[in-house]
Amino acid sequence: MTELAYLPTVDDAYVRAFTAKVVALPPGGVVLDRTYFYPTGGGQPADRGTLALPGGDRVEVVDVNKSGPSVVHRIKAPPGVAARLAVDAELTGEIDWERRHRHMRLHTSQHVLSARIFGRTGRRTRRASFSGVRALLDLDGPVPDGDWPLLADDMAAIVREPQAVSIRQIARAEWDHHPQSARSGLVPLAPQVDPVRVVDIGEVDVCPCGGTHLRSTGEIGIVRIEPAQPTPDGGCRVTFTIDASGPSTPTG
Ligand SMILES: [Zn+2]
Repeated sequence: MTELAYLPTVDDAYVRAFTAKVVALPPGGVVLDRTYFYPTGGGQPADRGTLALPGGDRVEVVDVNKSGPSVVHRIKAPPGVAARLAVDAELTGEIDWERRHRHMRLHTSQHVLSARIFGRTGRRTRRASFSGVRALLDLDGPVPDGDWPLLADDMAAIVREPQAVSIRQIARAEWDHHPQSARSGLVPLAPQVDPVRVVDIGEVDVCPCGGTHLRSTGEIGIVRIEPAQPTPDGGCRVTFTIDASGPSTPTG
């Protein structure tokens, strides 16, 4: 079992280096007792980075996946180094921060855009995914052309007037009747999820999510929304991009 150490608070998503103990060594992988590496899920790609052995040799983390209650770090190791990995050894993990922070900027801006689309049009986001500097959102219906300039203004305003992001836990029974569950209600939560990890973005959004997010929307930077494309199911696909380098490089 792996403790997901990036989850409890928004600051935990800013931890770039940590130590943890090896609990299992499946073929080509390392399972730690805790990790700050984000495993693929919820549309957010896995982190990359390195794991350093006692003595300083490093293996590269090329993918990270959940496997039941464990997180498997898929590794690429120089010859001879993988053989020196041992259960109970303490490793130092280091996350590729440039990549992770980009995912946090995309993920946080997606929450804001989904909330503003819902607020302006009632359209809900069926799914979202992130890759590179690009986010895709699939909505449950079209958005009038005239709303897009307003939404672009909303995204500029959220950076100009930054909103704080925070995490809280809400009992499932309470969340199921929460007035703000309507925005994200298209994406069903698994029945066993209790309490619900909810991400608050100032007064702008309240949404259950297991991803990593910024501390402040001021770190998003410039968002460019591309023309929406209709999808065969009557919805529409929205694509937006962010600048490769954000407005600031916060330290952890
Ligand atoms: Zn999220």
